Amino acid sequence: KNKTMNQIIATGEATAILPAGDHVTPVTVIGTEAIRNTFDEVCIRQAINSRRAPGVSHVVLNPDGHLGYGAPIGCVMVSPSHIYPGPVGVDIKCSMSLLQLDLPADAIEDRRVRRELIMAVCNRIPTGAGRGARSVKHGRRVDTDVGRTLLAEGASADVCQALGIPPEWAARCEDSHHVGHDGTSVALAQRVEFHEEIGTFRDLRSKLQQIGSYGGGNHFGECEVVQIENNARARSVADTFGLRDGCVAFLSHCGSRGIGHNLAMHQFKTLQSKFAKWDIPLPGNDRELVYAPLGSDEGNAYIDDMSLGANFATLNHLVINLQVLEAFQQVFPGVKGDLVYFISHNIAREEVVENRKAWVHRKGATRAFPAGHHALKGTPYENTGHPILLPGNPQAGSAVMVADAGAALSCFSVNHGAGRVLGRKAAIRALDQQSIDKSFDDHDILTNCRQYPKDEAPAAYKDFEEVLRSVKLAGLASEVARLKARFVIKD
Ligand code: 5GP
Ligand code: MN
Ligand code: MN
Repeated sequence: KNKTMNQIIATGEATAILPAGDHVTPVTVIGTEAIRNTFDEVCIRQAINSRRAPGVSHVVLNPDGHLGYGAPIGCVMVSPSHIYPGPVGVDIKCSMSLLQLDLPADAIEDRRVRRELIMAVCNRIPTGAGRGARSVKHGRRVDTDVGRTLLAEGASADVCQALGIPPEWAARCEDSHHVGHDGTSVALAQRVEFHEEIGTFRDLRSKLQQIGSYGGGNHFGECEVVQIENNARARSVADTFGLRDGCVAFLSHCGSRGIGHNLAMHQFKTLQSKFAKWDIPLPGNDRELVYAPLGSDEGNAYIDDMSLGANFATLNHLVINLQVLEAFQQVFPGVKGDLVYFISHNIAREEVVENRKAWVHRKGATRAFPAGHHALKGTPYENTGHPILLPGNPQAGSAVMVADAGAALSCFSVNHGAGRVLGRKAAIRALDQQSIDKSFDDHDILTNCRQYPKDEAPAAYKDFEEVLRSVKLAGLASEVARLKARFVIKD
């Protein structure tokens, strides 16, 4: 750990640089000294490999950084010339979404009411690997033609109508749809046909039925109480975001399920075998850092497949929010709810970085455009910046933030959560089941699990307060609200 720390040079209380070798500008590091001490050697090596990889112009390591796939989880990698599947990851467009309910916190104080809500949500939204809405009573079936359309078009007006999604929710998405390399959905529709022919999805019809489900592991649904920060800016920004102080909200975390996973694996295999055939050196000798030049057939195919996965993730979240709203309406007839925002932390987007068009890969990182950013023109967030949804852990809470002008330092990005401090195996070895379950009881946070998964216990994650302190001290973003968990749904 000391060896690792010696490589990082502090430039401020929560900013630092990590030299990445000759002729390369250093990695930008965000984090206080306590946070910088959490980066282990492999994480640092991955950050350096990513920085030295072909065509890369910037790498940022955020406070939640830890071991990832090629690049660390909790990093931003920018390239004006290349696309990298590893720094998008196997769960294409894993994202957070937040639904604000018009329901005061008192309404869910009673544990029996919360139990009823857990049942109502779990009846509609399954958890667990491979499981789809098919296995549930109230789940939605997706017609295969609508499914093909949503892969190509994302949350278009037609798709929203077919699935019963309020059209205004599309405006509350970081990206309501992704286009293919040709800038339209034409190449995407062709790509769906191609994948059906070569059997990428095995059975598209059944894979589509996973829409509106969480999946396993780290994904979750969490019922929150919103606490808006006590200052004038936070109150005014919260108003634009549609947050309601002292009311119930629901936070969801999941990605593109089996479809995204299949597409990502297809891309890794295809690119890795081409690197082997062409005998091209791998950045840092890491097969997880395969890449393709923009404009090449390989680069185009990757962008198309990423977009298909991303479109599925978008509709997955929108349908989940619809089902969460229905679940609340079962328990509280007539209650209203609206999407606050939907934002990804595993995606590559074309943006302008230092006056140049570039692909910004956010691997466990969240976009953070402040007020006045050109890309927010014409959105509801033009004068505030868009909502940043940051999960911490159920006991420490989660946060809604908004970017500040200082976010230019991190290529307009912040962390995506607290980040792991214990790997899954280490957590299972080190933590005690009884104390974990007792701690949830002590905090009066209910869960759907008989035993809370040890590898997901709050102690497996970094100190969320220190992570938030790092983001604020570095001048990247400010807090708008805290989210206090009342129940958690995990696999
Ligand atoms: P990912 O698995 O996408 O890398 O992590 C997302 C982040 O979610 C983690 O860094 C962690 O801080 C946070 N997180 C994990 N589990 C929970 C949970 O049950 N509730 C909340 N609020 N946050 C969580
Ligand atoms: Mn995920
Ligand atoms: Mn995630």
